[in-house]
Amino acid sequence: MTTETTVEGTFATAADLLAAIQPAEGGRKIKDPATGELVGRVAEPGVAELEAAVEAARRVQPEWAGRGHAERSEYLNLAADAVEANAEALAELLSREQGKPLNGPNARFEVGACAGWLRATAAFELEPETLVEEDGNHAELHYRPLGVVGAIGPWNWPMMISIWQLAPALRMGNTVVMKPSEYTPLSVLALAEVLNTVLPADVLHVVPGGREVGEALSAHAGIDKVMFTGSTATGKAIIRSSADTVKRLTLELGGNDAGIVLPDTDPKAAAQDLFWGAFINTGQTCAALKRLYVHEDIYDDVCAALTEVAEQMPMGVGLDENNVLGPLQNKAQYDIVAKLVQAAKDSGARVLTGGNPDEGQPGYFYPATLVADIDNDNPLVAEEQFGPALPIIKYSTVDEAVAMANGLKVGLGASVWSSDPAKAREVAARIEAGTVWINKHGAIDPRVPFGGAKQSGYGLEFGVEGLKQLGSPQVIAG
Ligand code: NAD
Repeated sequence: MTTETTVEGTFATAADLLAAIQPAEGGRKIKDPATGELVGRVAEPGVAELEAAVEAARRVQPEWAGRGHAERSEYLNLAADAVEANAEALAELLSREQGKPLNGPNARFEVGACAGWLRATAAFELEPETLVEEDGNHAELHYRPLGVVGAIGPWNWPMMISIWQLAPALRMGNTVVMKPSEYTPLSVLALAEVLNTVLPADVLHVVPGGREVGEALSAHAGIDKVMFTGSTATGKAIIRSSADTVKRLTLELGGNDAGIVLPDTDPKAAAQDLFWGAFINTGQTCAALKRLYVHEDIYDDVCAALTEVAEQMPMGVGLDENNVLGPLQNKAQYDIVAKLVQAAKDSGARVLTGGNPDEGQPGYFYPATLVADIDNDNPLVAEEQFGPALPIIKYSTVDEAVAMANGLKVGLGASVWSSDPAKAREVAARIEAGTVWINKHGAIDPRVPFGGAKQSGYGLEFGVEGLKQLGSPQVIAG
């Protein structure tokens, strides 16, 4: 293979992609969450298709492993080229199926991140590590491919999270069978269609379907590892169903990220970053700010600055270039957000903006909502709302803020905000979370490992550390 290959765009529009991935007739209808209009149809033969996919992936895996890291990295770079060449068609389909706008940190951003993660994963150096080197005694650590990796994904960032799972798996010499969320199967089928224009046959499969396909994948004897991103409850079910085959697992589960704003923060300067830390993808992001703890000295100013930013952000149909916030992806998620905000209102908390959805309009739109003067044990604080509603809790001492931040069973991300980064880092070290950002939130990087503490999961993604988790460590000593 040669790096001289150029990848031409194969799909000009979402309609071209749909023509390639839809069944000729029938299938389950997928509706646009912004309008209720038909996006497309998905064929779901289910567990029978899973068997065929696992068998084909197992058959080609030794050959894929035999190509070596350099050649597989070239394939990942070609895959990135293919994503870029078809970016607009992918973004359009993603926007229509998931609901997220084309603009802002949304559909085009997600497709761009797919290419970025593929290239970064292609570039990692993975050499055997010499552990002991002395007279007559030598030990090295190698990483061998595991075999076939199963990847089960959620509906919030369906393309990007698929890439997070498949890129390191393929790079390490595994083949992959993906089970997308039943809410966003077309996005993942379309992404794989594009990737498969350059990848060798059968190294990457997608089997759409519901929970039963996920369960079968997690229990399947032909699957060596499951990469799972989704809720903590489903993660626990996967641990159980994978036990009999002692599968390796990487579990990226739910979070309820805290942000602590120290009293030396400039509220106006921080407001935009605080807003997007919470409302990226209209709040439907695992590592988004979901509880904001603000010192009493600047509480009112932070509330006012955030309200001003929130009220400027256009929300609406994703294909409208003006919008930067979209609908909730599905009715179940809309109901969770509406119920939690209602509970907060009923408790006497103060709604600064939002909280008043227009029930008459089509689509699952819930306005960007800020809730102040709310207790830490209110359900809007204690439960993962996973939507555009941010509770803002007042604190008096840093000890109190840290105790509240650490008070839940989950710990995915967190952030500390201050004009003194050294002071912020001291507070960060006390927080029980997989990542603590300073003066930003959710700023993931393909070179920096990412994973959850406590019930937000285990295992790491991204970086060389993430890549190693797609391999079977092997010591060669003597
Ligand atoms: P979910 O757990 O409902 O579904 C995720 C996937 O699991 C879907 O494909 C679903 O079909 C499948 N599934 C359901 N039951 C299963 C079972 N018993 N066995 C195997 N597979 C099964 O999650 P969701 O609602 O799609 O996503 C939202 C959740 O995901 C939130 O809690 C969010 O915090 C979390 N999330 C975490 C990260 C992270 O990196 N930690 C990223 C995105 C989302």
